[in-house]
Amino acid sequence: MAEFDVDLFVIGGGSGGVRAARIAAGHGARVMVAEEYRMGGTCVIRGCVPKKLFVIGSHVRQELTDAAGFGWSIPSATFDWPTLIANKDKEIARLEAAYTANVEKSGARIAKARAVFEDAHTLRLSTGEKISANVVLIATGGAPNHGAAIPGLEHVISSNEAFHLEQLPRRILIQGGGYIALEFACIFAGFGSDVTVVYRGDNILRGFDEDVRSHVRSEMEKEGITILTGCTVTGVDKHGKEYTSHLSNGSSIASDQVMFAIGRHPNVANLGLEKAGVAINPSNGGIAVDHFSKTSAPNIYAIGDVTHRFNLTPVAIREGHAFADTVFGKRPVQVDHADIPTAVFSQPEVGTVGLTETQARAQFSHVDVYKTSFRPIKSTMSGRDTRVLMKLVVDGTTDRVVGCHIVGDTAAEIVQAVAIAVKMKATKADFDATLALHPTAAEELVTMRTPTARYVRDEAAE
Ligand code: FAD
Repeated sequence: MAEFDVDLFVIGGGSGGVRAARIAAGHGARVMVAEEYRMGGTCVIRGCVPKKLFVIGSHVRQELTDAAGFGWSIPSATFDWPTLIANKDKEIARLEAAYTANVEKSGARIAKARAVFEDAHTLRLSTGEKISANVVLIATGGAPNHGAAIPGLEHVISSNEAFHLEQLPRRILIQGGGYIALEFACIFAGFGSDVTVVYRGDNILRGFDEDVRSHVRSEMEKEGITILTGCTVTGVDKHGKEYTSHLSNGSSIASDQVMFAIGRHPNVANLGLEKAGVAINPSNGGIAVDHFSKTSAPNIYAIGDVTHRFNLTPVAIREGHAFADTVFGKRPVQVDHADIPTAVFSQPEVGTVGLTETQARAQFSHVDVYKTSFRPIKSTMSGRDTRVLMKLVVDGTTDRVVGCHIVGDTAAEIVQAVAIAVKMKATKADFDATLALHPTAAEELVTMRTPTARYVRDEAAE
């Protein structure tokens, strides 16, 4: 009789957990996955996928308006929120079923239950079942932060609820300056809501390139979104169906919905981690892991958002795959976390890979910056007041392109391809040797010949 019920027990059926379970089962392991909510996890159920569907739907407004300049006259269009929600729910249910089927097809067993540790090798399920496992993978993801306990916090929704609102709010206040806050701001504005963004810092998109931050802000403001920086929501009152948000700057704002998107925390609470000997990383609150995603307990691993490293779906998937190959495939794989491309699906969207100008200047003695901002060809006829930003950051010593930042339609699609070149350590000369594809916005990436700024660090002054 086998010493353990299963070779691998995966806690969490999200992006990372599902990939790890399928690959480990493919390597011949006996695998069980516990999921307490819905298979697919955050990305599929209440993250990337429904968010992108909302982005696509809300962008139609701009397409309709822009059409006039090209000769189209469209009778006044109407939008039905319940239809959007119902169709989105149908698609998410389809994906959830596909995730379930794929895990089962791989030979892994799914337990629709919450799992917690009894000890390093024993899991207790909310169904009452106890399972012993040789190896355990924690892939429990993260959840929205609620922030400080302000009066009226119970009236505030997070992105989780934003996907299920019964009606489109006529006015919405969103607190937060990160990608989730801005994506929802643009989504609601696109569907016709009056949107106010409140952010405590001096500008939105902290951590992004400074030019990207100011460009996105000005583009969102041009679309009618109010962005208030340097203040926070200190309380929310409810009167009937309306809310009044009180701000730290002394003003107050009325709206029909108040949403906070002020960061996410790893799901580490009440998992029994202490009983299993799994330590938390004090610097980020996630589970502490080594380069192979191994925790402080020798038979327990953790991947994805619960480690709070790079909270993105492709990262969780890559980490899950690497874990399964390392532990069950006899092929040790470390995930390379450098040059991860990311996007903000604001309108216009952001695509970025590599270093910001600030990071590059801190790292390299010589930095060349190539930057351009221009009216996209479509707006010459649509009349839309919008500009595209493209920026390349180059290590002036090696000529290597170390950062690419784009704001504009399809920026994310463009950057996915540029990321290959950056990962391959392409130089600016390689970009220059590539012929332009005309007429596109992306051709600017290979036609920017003269640096807009050139920085040489004064070593003597340091
Ligand atoms: P998750 O996908 O969160 O899965 C964890 C699973 O574990 C959940 O299903 C949860 O129910 C389950 N669970 C937790 N505790 C237990 C337990 N004790 N027992 C059983 N089950 C448990 N990333 C991108 O790359 N691109 C995007 O555009 C993007 N957009 C996003 C938009 C929003 C609004 C949000 C919230 C996130 C977005 N993300 C995006 C981030 C992405 O969703 C996450 O990085 C990704 O889902 C992490 O995968 P994971 O496997 O670590 O965790």
